[in-house]
Amino acid sequence: MTPTTSRRTFLLSAAIAAAPLACPRAEAKAPRNLKITSVKVLLTNPPQSRNENFVLVKIETSEPGLYGWGDATCTGSELSVAKMIEEHLAPAIIGRDPMQTENLWKTLYHLPYYRSGSVHMSALSGIDMALWDIKGKVAGLPVYELLGGKVRDKLLTYRSTGGRDFKQVEDGVNKLIELGYKVIKVQVADPELEAGYAVPSTAKQEAAEREAYAKGGAPRQIWEPDNYVRLLPRLLEHLRKTIGDKAQLLHDVHERITPSQAIVLAKDVEPYKLFYFEDPLAPENLDTFRIIRHQCSTPVAMGEVYTGLWEGKELITEHLIDYVRHDLAHVGGISTGKKIATLCEPYGILTAWHGPGNISPITHMANCHVSLSVPNFGIQEYATGWGDAVLEVFSATPKYAAGYVTVTDEPGLGIDVNEKAAAKYPYKRFLRPTIRRADDTPWPY
Ligand code: MG
Repeated sequence: MTPTTSRRTFLLSAAIAAAPLACPRAEAKAPRNLKITSVKVLLTNPPQSRNENFVLVKIETSEPGLYGWGDATCTGSELSVAKMIEEHLAPAIIGRDPMQTENLWKTLYHLPYYRSGSVHMSALSGIDMALWDIKGKVAGLPVYELLGGKVRDKLLTYRSTGGRDFKQVEDGVNKLIELGYKVIKVQVADPELEAGYAVPSTAKQEAAEREAYAKGGAPRQIWEPDNYVRLLPRLLEHLRKTIGDKAQLLHDVHERITPSQAIVLAKDVEPYKLFYFEDPLAPENLDTFRIIRHQCSTPVAMGEVYTGLWEGKELITEHLIDYVRHDLAHVGGISTGKKIATLCEPYGILTAWHGPGNISPITHMANCHVSLSVPNFGIQEYATGWGDAVLEVFSATPKYAAGYVTVTDEPGLGIDVNEKAAAKYPYKRFLRPTIRRADDTPWPY
């Protein structure tokens, strides 16, 4: 553990030892009659690579200066999430005790009756994170301490690299190895296509997308999976020949192939011993996860599109996956993340919380607090390389060093928001490209 943690532990022990024996917890008591006084939503779009909006939640309390921040970002539904919070959830918790995290979570989950889904659960996620932030500030402790304390000092992390061809991917891998990464996600473009998932588009595609956005519409990308399923094993073979075992590799299919292709591909990549094989199937195809599981040993990661504790639980209870990838900004926040990790623990399933660049640094901090505190941690995705505007709005991000990330021991989540800076970058409509086959059929199928 860090020296700071040891010092705090010592001081806490000394305080307890000095307190009257009849009431040793009196020093840690929460402020009396603490109430939620407001729940505000802040939409901001500080420029970064994709210009996506963040939906932030600020919960203020009756204690002057005591507030918490959460992240309710759900790309594609930002205004809906904001309205869900302001119109349908916030009024139910104004005046309530913010320390009752579990009570308020259950209250807000069942409040709409027609519950769950990405809008409701992202809204609830933002509120849950803000409540944990308040709880940590009241306790004077980082959130990971409230979740059971650190199980580890730092979190293994990974970065992605994608290229138009094998050599570009190889160069990207070598750059990340130089930066200390021990696990790297690799993606390669189909040379027959102008775009793909997590790979550079051609100049022609980029120009078409700029034109579509300028007209206020959604650009289109053409996707055909047949070449891709033959290309990926050859990429992995190339990388193993050129970089050897200098880094572990993982790959994200992003649900872009058919169930039968996924089964074949999971078997074809088996010799390259991936760290994990991510999102091989759409979440609706639970039955085909069983087929993959029974036919090959490639580790499977899944979960980023689930929106709650109950969705996809069979993947865990039937041990059909090896890593849970749920997004704490969509699944119900820190409270749900901790429960999912606990459900996974007896199955030996490890955590790998979703950590892309289109959720705010608040969720990245929340990811780290949960990851630090669970015994069955696997890896933590973290999108480094925020633009200056993002760093102007947010006071902190997880810190990267030599293949690992961690957070400070500030009380709560350890992150604040500069509201004046955020106001300089207002909401802008952002439409994701539509993915279509060459004959214009919307993917999948
Ligand atoms: Mg994924």
